[in-house]
Amino acid sequence: MDRIEGGCRCGSVRWRISCERLPRTYACHCLDCQTWSGSAFSQQAIVARQRFECMGQVGRFDLPSADGERISNQFACPVCFTRLYNTNSGRPGLVIVRAGTFDASHQLEVVAHIWTKRKQPWLTLDERCPAWPEGAPQTDLYRLIDVQPVVDPPRA
Ligand SMILES: [Zn+2]
Ligand SMILES: [Zn+2]
Repeated sequence: MDRIEGGCRCGSVRWRISCERLPRTYACHCLDCQTWSGSAFSQQAIVARQRFECMGQVGRFDLPSADGERISNQFACPVCFTRLYNTNSGRPGLVIVRAGTFDASHQLEVVAHIWTKRKQPWLTLDERCPAWPEGAPQTDLYRLIDVQPVVDPPRA
């Protein structure tokens, strides 16, 4: 796969990830993700910031964590309000990309579920897929979703 791309619903914003293959994704079933997505859960991939490029103007909303130690920066299309990605001061160098904005979203694999204690009761998860009732330890989650090490992009 030479190009991994995605974008918002209206097409004003497009993004690109320079990776060999599609990243693995995880699902978060917490109430914040339900509210923020307007849906049952969020599904996302985490990629190195150097590999991520966004084309087009994005709107930004910054939200400090309750303890004030981290700031979440949410980026969305200012025209159609599709949520595209976010960064977090607690995860420097990484971009969390909304899985539903991938052009190839139908090919993405979910390899972990977190905050399953808030999961919608009608949703049955594959029991072979690792799941945590609340947040997963970062090392476990990063190993499962294979957060790729930062390397220089190949020269054209
Ligand atoms: Zn848009
Ligand atoms: Zn969540």
